[in-house]
Amino acid sequence: MSKLEFTVHCPVCKMTKVDRSLLFNYRGIDHYFCSSQCLDRFKAHPHLFVGDPKHGMSPKQKGQTALKKCRIGFAEPIDDELKVVMQQSLLSLMGIESLVFEESLL
Ligand SMILES: [Zn+2]
Repeated sequence: MSKLEFTVHCPVCKMTKVDRSLLFNYRGIDHYFCSSQCLDRFKAHPHLFVGDPKHGMSPKQKGQTALKKCRIGFAEPIDDELKVVMQQSLLSLMGIESLVFEESLL
């Protein structure tokens, strides 16, 4: 009888150091997580990390990056000083890749 070997990793961030108390069973499969933040992210959108039967593997499983755009509108023009502060703050957040300031199209 051969011994089945496998590596347990957090399905969200792929870290191999998981906390065995952070367990979530999704579609009959136990998943372990490195942190409660990763567990919360998984619970919110599990199909993003493990795919689903209808659509197959998720972009993350295929090693792809899924970019999303978000537009924020301001009632008044903002000055360059505030743009620098906003840029530093937003780019320090996880998941934000770039920031573009555009003049109003109105
Ligand atoms: Zn994780």
